[in-house]
Amino acid sequence: MRMYDIIEKKRDGGKLSREEIAFWIDGYVKGEIPDYQVSSLLMAIFFRGLDDEELTELTLQMANSGDMVDLSGISGIKVDKHSTGGVGDKTTLIVAPIAAALGCKVAKMSGKGLGFTGGTTDKLEAIEGYQINIPKEDFIRQVNEIGISLISQSGNLTPADKKLYALRDVTATVESIPLIASSIMSKKIASGADAIVLDVKLGSGAFMKNLEDARSLSQKMVNIGKLAGRNTMAVITNMDVPLGENVGNSLEVIEAIDVLQGRGPKDLLEVSVVLATSMVMLCKNISEEEARRQVVEVINNGEAFEKLKQVVKAQGGNVAMIEDTARFPEAKFKAQIKAPKAGYIQKMNTENIGKVACMLGAGRETKEDVIDYTAGLKILKKTSEFVEEGEVLAVLYTNREEKIEEAASYYLNALEFSSQKPENPKLIYEIIK
Ligand code: URA
Repeated sequence: MRMYDIIEKKRDGGKLSREEIAFWIDGYVKGEIPDYQVSSLLMAIFFRGLDDEELTELTLQMANSGDMVDLSGISGIKVDKHSTGGVGDKTTLIVAPIAAALGCKVAKMSGKGLGFTGGTTDKLEAIEGYQINIPKEDFIRQVNEIGISLISQSGNLTPADKKLYALRDVTATVESIPLIASSIMSKKIASGADAIVLDVKLGSGAFMKNLEDARSLSQKMVNIGKLAGRNTMAVITNMDVPLGENVGNSLEVIEAIDVLQGRGPKDLLEVSVVLATSMVMLCKNISEEEARRQVVEVINNGEAFEKLKQVVKAQGGNVAMIEDTARFPEAKFKAQIKAPKAGYIQKMNTENIGKVACMLGAGRETKEDVIDYTAGLKILKKTSEFVEEGEVLAVLYTNREEKIEEAASYYLNALEFSSQKPENPKLIYEIIK
């Protein structure tokens, strides 16, 4: 078999066989096939696509390219949740304890944030003492004992995805729906859960910019999940507006705690309830109505908040910070951004708002950058709200005083004002089962 023939076949719109996909993935991971040939194949896939069979085969080959996490030592249904990435997206910290409080097993591995989107492990590390790397035996034991563990992806998980993602990043092939679907689902399948809830973000702060693409990505991932024997659902949610009010690691943990204590912003609460409901439906095999009722109950009776405290304690974190969020260290500088004129907020460029948080120190441009957990922003006015001239739109939190002016002006440029009231943004677009 020759890589040349595989590239030529896909270039001409042909269908790749299982053997050809295996030859490509195996050879690439072993370093036997060069980047330039794989780049060429990726571009052919970008234009020609992959059918369901090719896509499932590629995903399974990628999942099998490294360690497959074995969760068989955990009794009960293991449920995972994955977000395609957004700004202010702290839902894992909310939905994982809710699902665990309802008896689901949440053995979750998360990643770091990169670029304008945040990552769950960074938020967890904002809690003093929290260990995101624990031995596998402790991970399994903890999930059996308290129903939940939230750790960092470790070991040799999906090396094919790591290599392919890095190559896509420099060959303008990231935005290919089948390549995104195989990248995400290979990691989810290798992570070992029985059931998977996918939060597919749609809007200016997400990969998917239109509903048609978000729907196609969701459908493909749900199909792959099914064919791989994992019960999978996708929820398409709004990322045209940052989720909740807080962006930045400590600030997001504090807001997640607020939601679990029944005080958080309504949009974040609703998206979290819908995602948690989906997790509970899959793991308990109950109706949506009943799952939602149980989810709301464990938020209101404090059991989900107790579960968050349990997981923080089990992983060495300072529970006093969870009980009293005033104990989170604060950034040295706070700066208000005021409305330059009166009007409705017509649009927010959410990706650029994520970039403001990075400028202030909350994110990293490269994997090696050190982040400042206290940095970020609090957004007080969002799309469709009316503001008077001079009213505070947002508050910046940073230790980089020299960045405040640039960040404030970048923030204002991310907003569009109008004299007409725009429609309230939709929170949930579709649920794909
Ligand atoms: N997230 C991933 O893990 N992979 C992609 O290709 C895009 C988003």
